[in-house]
Amino acid sequence: MDLLEYQGKQLFARHGVPVPSGKHAKTIEEAVAAAEEIGYPCVVKAQVHIGGRGKAGGIKVAEDRDEAEQHASAILGMQITGPHGEGPFEVHELWIEEASKIDAEYYASIILDRSAKKLLVMLSTMGGMNVEEIADKDPDALVRRHVEPAEGFGPEQAAQIAADAGVDEDARAETAEMLVKLYTAFNELDATLIEVNPLVVTSDRRVVALDSKTTIDNSALYRHEDVAGFEELSAMDPQERMAKEKGLTYVKLDGDIGILANGAGLCMSTLDVVAQAGGDPANFLDAGGGSKADAIVAALEVITSDEKVKAILFNIFGGITRCDEIAKGIIEAAGRIDLGVPLIVRLDGTNSEEGLGLLADATLPDLHIEKTMLGAAAKVVEVASQR
Ligand code: GDP
Ligand code: MN
Repeated sequence: MDLLEYQGKQLFARHGVPVPSGKHAKTIEEAVAAAEEIGYPCVVKAQVHIGGRGKAGGIKVAEDRDEAEQHASAILGMQITGPHGEGPFEVHELWIEEASKIDAEYYASIILDRSAKKLLVMLSTMGGMNVEEIADKDPDALVRRHVEPAEGFGPEQAAQIAADAGVDEDARAETAEMLVKLYTAFNELDATLIEVNPLVVTSDRRVVALDSKTTIDNSALYRHEDVAGFEELSAMDPQERMAKEKGLTYVKLDGDIGILANGAGLCMSTLDVVAQAGGDPANFLDAGGGSKADAIVAALEVITSDEKVKAILFNIFGGITRCDEIAKGIIEAAGRIDLGVPLIVRLDGTNSEEGLGLLADATLPDLHIEKTMLGAAAKVVEVASQR
């Protein structure tokens, strides 16, 4: 789960990482009230799940009440596109923060380096730029150190990194301390990424985290109630929210062909064959093993609630899952909800003949049975293109 800047900073603060004080706002009125409370100058910051907000005009300093109001009204509703073309994301939330007087901008991050099976700590005094740019411009300016799991990461390693990165001498101790605190936060939060860009040295020579890009391992959310709570605050995709409520494994994609399969592997292959047949999948939805009627109804509800979907491919290979149960689920779903789009079904494996028989007897409108996965993919692409 990717956290917004202010969510990350709130967690930082709880782990003793110095951050400027700030307030969250969703309306212009709230933003002005927050600015009045914080005082001037303050910074009005767009809260979206991408970086490059500064360049996009999503971060502005306000010197007084009028400016706070102007910036809040300009930034709320703004569309921000990421540096790599992500989005655009519309701004629904702001973070109003006391302005910092900046002497130096550093870059700090901790990531889970999967190929090395270790955490990687990075530090550079060339902050403000993204990490790829720093590495491109001057590879030596980016200090990269893996953490040996048996040794951990403490003040000594941190001090060495700060020295090697060429951090101003009077700020070294605090920068090192910051790295250790970020490392502790990383572990306690079950993070997979913490990036602070910029980490600043203020004009009164304090070291402060001015930005936060934090990702928490989704599989660990159950033990971080405070983090899981953030999810409700941020605007989640409606289908993903619905799927989560129904306990389904669902990932939204950009296309118009709804995909429903059992098992993550078959689901992935189904996406591939649909793409191969020239189609664009609208989602990944794993109905799971042993899918019963209720699960199928729930899955079809989620898929059809996406207005982009023009046709659905239901690809089942019965192992533990029995195809006759699946067929009953489809028939029940067709009775309970109006699918509104054609359904292409491929059923194979355990009890497939019984399942196909049930579907044939039910004579559902707009239901197409296909024998093979490739045939089903071709059919769903054909049907979707006609709508
Ligand atoms: P990003 O562009 O999305 O990465 O957003 P950041 O939070 O990193 O802000 C971008 C830039 O805005 C920073 O590198 C700073 O130069 C500037 N900035 C952000 N907050 C402040 C602040 O409180 N005071 C000043 N002077 N500049 C700020
Ligand atoms: Mn930044």
